[in-house]
Amino acid sequence: KEYAEISLKEINLLANSSFPLCMRHLFDKLKEDHHLKHGGRMQLAILLMGIGLKLDDALAFWKAEFSKKVGAERFDKEYAYGIRHNYGKEGKRTDYTPYSCQKIISSTPSIGDHHGCPYRHFSEENLRAALGKMGIGGRQMEDVMDKVRHRHYQLACTLTFEAIHNISCDSGINHPNQYFSESRKALQP
Ligand code: SF4
Repeated sequence: KEYAEISLKEINLLANSSFPLCMRHLFDKLKEDHHLKHGGRMQLAILLMGIGLKLDDALAFWKAEFSKKVGAERFDKEYAYGIRHNYGKEGKRTDYTPYSCQKIISSTPSIGDHHGCPYRHFSEENLRAALGKMGIGGRQMEDVMDKVRHRHYQLACTLTFEAIHNISCDSGINHPNQYFSESRKALQP
């Protein structure tokens, strides 16, 4: 585990301050649509587990959103199992390790899917809009887009991290959970 437990109360704040773009996008879409398809659910659920969200909080978090769309009963019947499964409480107790950037970048989201790496899978227009929302602009935006054009997606993410936190990240970004923990370290008072 890369960081101490996080609570349900903190999650909105943390998403805004410390989630990399891939997690932010899934998080925002979940809040907007109250639903995520399987690929997005998997990617976000195990990332949240990886940053320290406990099972009870995870169930409460997903239920609060999905209930608005499919109802609490259907959530309990159809979706809660998957969350418990991620935490090794159901089925084969598969050990789910949160996906690395490489794995996320090489995934192949279809239309309507929100998983994947935005630097790789977004259109230029959508990526620029998403980066703008994170406070990236001007020269920094062009530097990020330049890395994207050269297919250096993790470097593009690293530049975004550096611009937002105003520090250098010499190790580079190779895992969304690493982005998160580096961000928490950088923002510690
Ligand atoms: Fe997420 Fe990694 Fe892509 Fe950054 S480079 S958005 S952390 S998958």
